[in-house]
Amino acid sequence: MSRPTCLLTSANALLHNLKRVKACAPQQKVMAVVKANAYGTGLDFAIPVLNGQVDAFAVSCLEEALKIRELGSRASCLVLQGVFNAEEWRVAARYGFDCVIHHQAQLKWLLSVPLPSKIKVWVKINTGMHRLGFAMDEVEEVLRTLESCPWVDKDIRLMTHLARADERGHPYNDFQFNAFNAMSGSFKKYAHSIANSAAILSLPKTHADVVRPGIMLYGVSPFENQTGVDLGLMPVARLMSAITVIHHYPAGSSIGYGGTYTTDRPSIIGIVPVGYGDGYPRHIQPQTPVWVNGVMVPVVGRVSMDMLTIDLTTIPDAQEGDPVELWGPNIPIEQIATSAGTIAYELLCQMTDRLRGSATGLF
Ligand SMILES: *Cc1c(COP(=O)(O)O)cnc(C)c1O
Repeated sequence: MSRPTCLLTSANALLHNLKRVKACAPQQKVMAVVKANAYGTGLDFAIPVLNGQVDAFAVSCLEEALKIRELGSRASCLVLQGVFNAEEWRVAARYGFDCVIHHQAQLKWLLSVPLPSKIKVWVKINTGMHRLGFAMDEVEEVLRTLESCPWVDKDIRLMTHLARADERGHPYNDFQFNAFNAMSGSFKKYAHSIANSAAILSLPKTHADVVRPGIMLYGVSPFENQTGVDLGLMPVARLMSAITVIHHYPAGSSIGYGGTYTTDRPSIIGIVPVGYGDGYPRHIQPQTPVWVNGVMVPVVGRVSMDMLTIDLTTIPDAQEGDPVELWGPNIPIEQIATSAGTIAYELLCQMTDRLRGSATGLF
């Protein structure tokens, strides 16, 4: 018998969400973003499901790209931050990874290391995010240099990233889109990519040639005040545990560290062995719900590293061993993120390896 806390993942939901991507962007190629261990759902889960169903994968760094090869996928894979030194160009070429190139040092390293095989590059352009990317007036020269480099594949692509795609109707999206078009219009022979999940869902004009869905694949909304379910998506991650102990305490009992919650009536308190050591956020608002046997009951007191306490007084039939959902199909992860003052992206990525022990499975 092992600890009942585990992350369950749904291949069915992942494929459903991919269908939603394809329905939104039917003409485009799909590059599935699987950085940060497939947004916490596990590369070993996501890659076998998506392999062959998408045109490419995207990850943050080479280490993540190598994991995809270890899982047996030969699919194209784009390294979104590109290389961090000259040697990494060799590794990328050896394994056949595509790389983003976004600043002059990466270009210099590329020219300095003759590569045994051609590498595919994506030139990232800063259209207003001001994080990564060549300035628009550098692009022409960068492209000329790349075109004349013998180990660069002539099939160069252009990309940019939107800073405010999650804000529906924000004029900054038009500003970036127009800037990208004004510049990339001179380079029509190259494939273009702009859209993340929010843009796939709300900015069809930005779909270009290749879309880059991340969060929506995992069934989560990129927009504030909407859940994935509102958008026709299905949650891929289900964080489950179970009640291990039930206590009856009189009114006036303070529960857990700091005594931040005191019972105001005789109360039934359940112990659930999941905490911030698993990635459940500590900074939730009072009354944040968990799901027990189809009923929502609140977390009370502080979340500990390895457990939390829930108030079962309204469901006196609850038993030790009853399953508890922390987030998943019954409790939107977006709701817990809002309660914790963060976004669901962060909660997904913070799910720790302790959840991926022997009990990990499908739902
Ligand atoms: C992470 C990332 C994406 C995916 O973003 P979502 O909001 O999760 O869809 C797309 N493009 C780039 C460059 C990224 O870094």
